[in-house]
Amino acid sequence: MNYSKRISSLPGVELFQDINLEKYTTIRLNNKGSIALVSDLNSLKEVIRILLEENMQYHLVGWGANQIIHQTDKVLFIKLKLEFDRNYLSKVRDEYELPASVPLNILTSHAKKFNLSGWEVFTGIPASLGGAIFMNAGTNLGEIGSLVKSVTILTSQLEVKTVETSEESFSYRKNKFLSEGDIILSAKLIHNGIDLSIGQKITNYLDLRKSTQPLTTKNCGCVFKNYDESHRAGQFIDVCGLKGFSLSGLRVSPMHANFIENDGTATSGDFIEMVELLKYQLDLFSGIEFELEAKVY
Ligand SMILES: Cc1cc2nc3c(=O)[nH]c(=O)nc-3n(C[C@H](O)[C@H](O)[C@H](O)COP(=O)(O)OP(=O)(O)OC[C@H]3O[C@@H](n4cnc5c(N)ncnc54)[C@H](O)[C@@H]3O)c2cc1C
Repeated sequence: MNYSKRISSLPGVELFQDINLEKYTTIRLNNKGSIALVSDLNSLKEVIRILLEENMQYHLVGWGANQIIHQTDKVLFIKLKLEFDRNYLSKVRDEYELPASVPLNILTSHAKKFNLSGWEVFTGIPASLGGAIFMNAGTNLGEIGSLVKSVTILTSQLEVKTVETSEESFSYRKNKFLSEGDIILSAKLIHNGIDLSIGQKITNYLDLRKSTQPLTTKNCGCVFKNYDESHRAGQFIDVCGLKGFSLSGLRVSPMHANFIENDGTATSGDFIEMVELLKYQLDLFSGIEFELEAKVY
């Protein structure tokens, strides 16, 4: 039996084959492939077991907000849709055990309502919790890694294990504890107590983001990592005169030069071509090789 027949018969799995995957990433590039939406751990284990037996690869998609799906042959994309009762967030807790698929905006609303100190660091970041932890997502206010106490993982050997984490487990837009094939299932988050200024701080930061980032276009957030605080990729792209530059349905955002916007017609190949061109210009102009922040798979 081939992998798709075996997987589609599992409870807790919805399998979509050979579809346009554009709606699974925020940049919405056109690319055909297969994706499984998985809603519980047992089904997830079975999916991975089948894929390993059938010699297929898998790759996780969270909110798809920092991800370019390029290679779709012999790979099944997996999106977690784990159960989460919103009532869990009806009160303040010392620690929060949360599934990887919970969207960060729900957590920000909770932080805003209860003035949860520390949680302002991820204000306005479009992400699932798993994707945010994988990327150590953050803002000028801090990074999510500072709040993660432990992460529960399904390894590619089908073992479930919990890793205790600290700030040392993370660096700029990176985690240091996941291995190839590890899937984040859930995480324990802490906070720094109640601070009555947090609600307003979150509101102000959301307003600031609206005026400085293209939040309503199809994009994948920052394309390049900043080299350091004084060598920011967006500033260099701007100085190169490439703000607003267009190529094959893609445009360097006129609002923030480290964002590339899709008009709805671009493919992942177009994105890669655009990135190569920007890299070349950046290198020529600054002598710095800016690393990609967006994950191209
Ligand atoms: C408009 C906009 C603004 C943004 N602003 C910011 C910002 O201010 N700060 C910032 O840090 N980022 C920002 N981003 C980028 C993005 O929101 C973050 O990188 C976010 O953490 C991505 O989370 P995700 O769930 O979308 O992950 P995805 O983009 O889907 O995936 C990212 C990586 O995580 C892996 N992954 C996802 N889920 C799991 C899992 N459960 N287990 C194992 N691996 C997993 C994926 O395989 C992939 O390698 C922005 C993006 C957009 C579109």
